Amino acid sequence: MNFLKENNFKNKRVIVRVDFNVPLDKSLNVSDDSRIIAALPTINYVLSNNGVVILITHLGRPKEKDPKLSLFSVSKKLSTLLKRPVTFLGDCVGDEVEKKINQSKAGEVYLLENLRFYKEEALGDELFSKKLSSLGDVYINDAFGTSHRAHASTFGIVKYFKKEKYCGLLLEKEISNLKKFFGKNTSPSLAIIGGAKVSSKIDVLYSLMNSVDKIIIGGGMAYTFISSLGGKIGSSLIEKDRVSDAKEILIAAQEINVEILLPMDSVNSNDFKNNAGVITNIFDIPKGYLGLDIGPASIALFKKEILLAKNILWNGPMGVFEFSNFSYGTRLIAETVCKRTNEGAFSLVGGGDSVAAIKKYGLEKNISYLSTGGGAMLEFLEGKDLPALVALS
Ligand code: AMP
Repeated sequence: MNFLKENNFKNKRVIVRVDFNVPLDKSLNVSDDSRIIAALPTINYVLSNNGVVILITHLGRPKEKDPKLSLFSVSKKLSTLLKRPVTFLGDCVGDEVEKKINQSKAGEVYLLENLRFYKEEALGDELFSKKLSSLGDVYINDAFGTSHRAHASTFGIVKYFKKEKYCGLLLEKEISNLKKFFGKNTSPSLAIIGGAKVSSKIDVLYSLMNSVDKIIIGGGMAYTFISSLGGKIGSSLIEKDRVSDAKEILIAAQEINVEILLPMDSVNSNDFKNNAGVITNIFDIPKGYLGLDIGPASIALFKKEILLAKNILWNGPMGVFEFSNFSYGTRLIAETVCKRTNEGAFSLVGGGDSVAAIKKYGLEKNISYLSTGGGAMLEFLEGKDLPALVALS
């Protein structure tokens, strides 16, 4: 894979695939600019090496052109952060766009309109890939969050750049931090996996078993595991068709001496609402109650393990942390991971909700690396080949 090192992009038009899939508020202003900030080093790198920057990205999941998902307000935010003008083009392909880009000069920054206004983007359409590629002399991918997708802008486009295709600075950082988690001398290594669904985490659990010493399972997915062991889980979240998978995961881990730690107690509610929680043994949740957070005994057990680990991966909240009464598990686990990081452990946090939790509690600076990829990070951890990375290498 080519990395950015001593390149001279003098007068070259450099397409940079970024991940500006940022949240917008009701007035369509950017409400969290962290993904834009994360792309600045690559943009500044191209500028300081005399290139023209042509930024392409998707925003949301539009089925067709949708003014609510225009990148116009993102271009304003980017201009403020870069402290220089950014030219927004109201489309990403076509004669108008080509004309403007053909007149571009070194040092200019262009942001093209949402790629997903064309269904061809997600379909990885050949012609669309070719049209996009014709806008640049150089291609850089800096969008880790979409690298598990074989889309036109992440995969199809790459073959049109025989030599001038590069891994951006953010993408390079993501890959090196993910690899660090699997590095040498990292034992005891601990994975903390939570979130709603077992189904989305089965492959990653099998894969992690081969590289970590212990796995903590929390969040909604824990109840399917408890049910597989014969526990009474009331009306808690369960994936009935995954109960046997959960049982098999527990057996497979036991066979290779990897300890899986499940919650011991649960904080329950009689409705999916921010009611006052009722704590019970997680194997004995009364009928009509659903578990929405891990309880104090589980928090104590998990904290003890975290404080022994040298290498920590966290993906998925421990409960419905969006409800204040059920946020303690997630918050205390987050705080303990930070404490252990400050004591010298390496910590890697990824996945939209876990990163959101870290930010909600203002703990960003106490984590070794916050990944910008959720699905992409999981697929990397599963050992899968990510199409965008394959294309670049
Ligand atoms: P995921 O996208 O799979 O990481 O799941 C994140 C979501 O899981 C968050 O929105 C949480 O509210 C939700 N979640 C966590 N614990 C529970 C639970 N015990 N019951 C229902 N949903 C949960």
